Amino acid sequence: MKDTQVIPLSELPVTAVFGVGEDRRQLLERLKIITVQDLLFHQPRRHEDRRKFLSIRELKLKEPATVRGRIVAAGFKRWQHGARSLFECIFEDGTARLHCRWWHSQPWMEDWYAVGREFLIYGKPGSLKPINIDHPETELVEPGDDEFIHVNRIVPFHPLTDGLTGRVMRTLIWRALEQFASRVAEPDFLVAGENGANPATPFYAALPTRANALRMIHFPEEVVHVEIARRRLALDEFVRLQLAIQGRRKKFEAQAQALPCGGDNHWMKPFLSHLGFKLTHAQTRVLREIRTDMGGVHPMRRLLQGDVGSGKTAVAACAALMALESGFNVALMAPTEILAEQHFQNFSRWFTPLGIAVRLQTGRSNGIDTAPPQSDDSVCLYVGTHALLSSGFSLPKLGLVVIDEQHKFGVSQREQLVRKGRYPHLLVMTATPIPRTLGLTLYGDLDISVIDEIPGGRGEIKTFVRTADKLPKVWDFIREKLTAGRQAFVVYPRAEQEDVDIKAVTKEFAGIQRALAPFQVGLLHGRLRGPEKDGTMAQFRSGQIHVLLATSLIEVGVDVPNATVMLVENAERFGLAQLHQLRGRIGRGSHDSYCILISGADDPKAESRLAVMAKTNDGFKIAEADLKIRGPGELLGQQQSGLPDLQFGRLIDDTDLVRQSRDIAARLLQIGIPA
Ligand code: ADP
Ligand code: MG
Repeated sequence: MKDTQVIPLSELPVTAVFGVGEDRRQLLERLKIITVQDLLFHQPRRHEDRRKFLSIRELKLKEPATVRGRIVAAGFKRWQHGARSLFECIFEDGTARLHCRWWHSQPWMEDWYAVGREFLIYGKPGSLKPINIDHPETELVEPGDDEFIHVNRIVPFHPLTDGLTGRVMRTLIWRALEQFASRVAEPDFLVAGENGANPATPFYAALPTRANALRMIHFPEEVVHVEIARRRLALDEFVRLQLAIQGRRKKFEAQAQALPCGGDNHWMKPFLSHLGFKLTHAQTRVLREIRTDMGGVHPMRRLLQGDVGSGKTAVAACAALMALESGFNVALMAPTEILAEQHFQNFSRWFTPLGIAVRLQTGRSNGIDTAPPQSDDSVCLYVGTHALLSSGFSLPKLGLVVIDEQHKFGVSQREQLVRKGRYPHLLVMTATPIPRTLGLTLYGDLDISVIDEIPGGRGEIKTFVRTADKLPKVWDFIREKLTAGRQAFVVYPRAEQEDVDIKAVTKEFAGIQRALAPFQVGLLHGRLRGPEKDGTMAQFRSGQIHVLLATSLIEVGVDVPNATVMLVENAERFGLAQLHQLRGRIGRGSHDSYCILISGADDPKAESRLAVMAKTNDGFKIAEADLKIRGPGELLGQQQSGLPDLQFGRLIDDTDLVRQSRDIAARLLQIGIPA
């Protein structure tokens, strides 16, 4: 008995709670509840105010309410002529009778809903003559001394498992709180430090203690207490997260010595004068930030965020030149071979005249050169896919790592590349704009630069949503644009299996060739061999191919300014952020562009989603809409392993808490907490 007094709740088996024997332990384990702490933190999914019951007679049509009644009749009924039956039950409370029906009846119901038993019944009356609720939530009333847990209060509903009723769960949590809540400790970061000297204390002054927050989240006295308690527990989570993020950064800065990569402009000047356009104000501002970093004392760790088409590549080129001018090599990693190839071509065109070697490293190519072989003091830009990460490939004198479309990579891949050098500078680029709170959490260890300006002289992009039966008209429209000398993309969504995908796209290929003859159509998908892909892309770039039919392979980065039409089939299968990326392939030249989204599904929800695309070209608004619809995991891609696992915190809604937690963590770290 004495031992359980000192074991932390996170190690104390749940059987320490009064009433949990082996059977219940096994049931709880299914819910991943192993320890007392797990049980205390088993978050209710909703609450119900049972302080006031209605009598059955007071029930109103379509208004959800709880009543209490005793069963006067119950049994299965054959449902029309079919073999299926429904279960019907009649409750009475002295004011009226309530008829309840379950259409998917189960054999056990007959025993459970026995005449004479008393139940709490929650639901929405579907009719009042007779008074009826279908599929109500019910709870058996077992009179006893724990009545006050289940009625006459705001009652929690917890996630359950077969064999464990809500009533039992509620009772166990009630007991766990009685026995153990007083032993729920405040977080380390809050109790550390001299008395009163802890900088987090003022932020917590008005908040309930952790123990009280737990009491409140399960058994609140007022409905608003649930949210107060959740926010307290969420703040703890956010502070922990920020301590980890900022702590990592601090440690990194303490260890890492920056390589001097500020550059001296001897290549930058001729590069900018031959580029063919003037950098936008936003590009120039971002470059200033980058130069400060690369000439500073800590290695740069910067995220460059800019909508599709904002000109991130040119910024990356300038950053690369700073490092190259300073005598260091640069590695640029892109998520697809097509994009790596495109970068390789652009950078070769830009850098080779300056005498800088550019090499391509993809899964199939090994160090293709465009420049004279390297002597010892010459510098080199390595462009590649994740093949750059392969262990046999070394990157000497690495001064700068650039990662394009970084949301397609995991954090670990990014670090793998960085570790090929001795604390090189790091620039990661993305077009996926994310709301600030999410950014502060996900990229808390990066500084953020934003290109919030699209280069001028571009045509307008118009977006249309059409149903599949309008396709003949769409082909006519595309033909018109091709006749005018423009080019088009046609994109098919990726199916679950690549094979199915390729079959679908190959089948369409013949049809589209016929529909658009004599214009040339090229086909691009993941199964083609590298040289075939390159050949097709090259022909499209040079205008020999007029229409490129592809899977979402071309989603990121591809830059062919003469292409002004993007037709997406079965567009409803793409996420909004992805559609925005696809649309970013057009609108890169001076002509007006057209994005046509064909919705295959007859689904109003899909249509309203696509309507967002027609309404705005603003990547930020689209990302926000996507975030609301699909959640951060989907928006950022499965690759993004950086998403924290939060129980109480809500990354999207808890903006103020995320800010506070950043502040708190910074102050704590300043005085050396945690040690
Ligand atoms: P993203 O930010 O999507 O990677 P890119 O770097 O591919 O965009 O740039 C899109 C297009 O805009 C490219 O054709 C590029 O040459 C062009 N571009 C970049 N910066 C400018 C600028 N300042 N003025 C005009 N065109 C620019
Ligand atoms: Mg790009």
